[in-house]
Amino acid sequence: MASQGGSAMFDLVAELYPICRSITGRGVRETLRALSRFVPLTVVEVPSGLEVFDWTVPLEWNIRDAYIKDRSGTRIVDFNRSNLHVVSYSLPIRRTVGLAELKTHLHTDPLSRGSIPYRTSYYAPTWGFCLSQDQLDGMHDDEYEVCIDSTLSPGHLTYGEFLIKGRSSQEVLISTHICHPSLANDNLSGIAVATAVAQRLSEMDLRYSYRFLFIPGTIGSITWLALNHARLDRIKHGFVMSCVGDGGAPTYKQSRGGEAEIDRAWAYVLGQGGGEFRLRPFSPYGYDERQFCSPGINLPVGCFMRTPHGEFAEYHTSGDDLGFVRPASLRDSALKVMSVIDVLENNLAYVNQKPFCEPRLGKYDLYENVGGGNASDYRMALLWLLNMSDGAHSVLDIASRAGLPWETVKAALRSLEAAGLLRAVDAPALAAGAGAPGSWSASPVTVTSA
Ligand code: ZN
Repeated sequence: MASQGGSAMFDLVAELYPICRSITGRGVRETLRALSRFVPLTVVEVPSGLEVFDWTVPLEWNIRDAYIKDRSGTRIVDFNRSNLHVVSYSLPIRRTVGLAELKTHLHTDPLSRGSIPYRTSYYAPTWGFCLSQDQLDGMHDDEYEVCIDSTLSPGHLTYGEFLIKGRSSQEVLISTHICHPSLANDNLSGIAVATAVAQRLSEMDLRYSYRFLFIPGTIGSITWLALNHARLDRIKHGFVMSCVGDGGAPTYKQSRGGEAEIDRAWAYVLGQGGGEFRLRPFSPYGYDERQFCSPGINLPVGCFMRTPHGEFAEYHTSGDDLGFVRPASLRDSALKVMSVIDVLENNLAYVNQKPFCEPRLGKYDLYENVGGGNASDYRMALLWLLNMSDGAHSVLDIASRAGLPWETVKAALRSLEAAGLLRAVDAPALAAGAGAPGSWSASPVTVTSA
């Protein structure tokens, strides 16, 4: 995939769209195999039955076929036409039933009458079909043959992990869920943007290490956190990504504390973006930031979206298809993520070496020779950096307060450093830690390459 190219990311979304994913099973493995063409993922298989905090890794679910046939033998609901037609984790069934009984297993979305809703039943054993309200209204009081050719049996929960080692063992965590079937924005957009960003970062010289998680929602993050509980202090910043391909404005949901460096980096980048954006406070509902921000974990992990889950009509319906995701939005989302990463990478604190009044910038070739007129952004960046660099304020603090573009602040910073006027605070927390940030996986799991 050409890094951050919107059309390449869209092509990946389109390739993954037909696969029937769930929180376990072959669809997840097939998805991770496809991603491993772009980044060398480590695939982790966690056995069913493993206790993870208050949860248990579930049985593995796989499905081959499912349909509802009418009396003439015609498949009126067909899994092969849309995998949304089957409630995820449906038990196997093959029976003939009347409409009244069948209706107790049918799910529609009356608010979006033409769409097939997406429904799951991971932890309450049942079976069911999803169809449009319009189709249900057209079904006669008759007998129907229902078949769900699925298996629910001991197996594994599968996730993918990819670590890019930077100069420090301190990590930035980027996590996206991989458990939705044919839904393009909620799920596949996050996978495509995370993959493109991971590919791009692999080619860069980085201060932080970057850990990408491609995990089933909720149970996947709970499992990963349980297996890696002892190592979480390496994670300094993080965010979850989902719904990043629709045409809406970018949205950032803050971490639990709301004032972490990652929260301020996102607020600054979106504020500098020049367009509409949304900042949302933390709430204990949404994606896996709920687990990363639970009180015993409490990592500085927010969530990056465009239109938030539940706030677009196509959400969790067949309307969230390839027509709903835009290459330009995927590209913009990837660029926003790269901007946030650039802020984190460069966000050190500096000390002004000539703090007694302003240094005479002309002596250092930093002063624009012609006076008068308004100060340029660049000159303002020089002055803000000199004024606020007392060792206690980071570059992000200064850029946010000055309201100046990051590239301008960075250029001014480099000039002041080169002139010897600013020196980075040697923060011990930023020095490379001991020990390799290699495999974190605990013993009960199987680790393979995809
Ligand atoms: Zn969802």
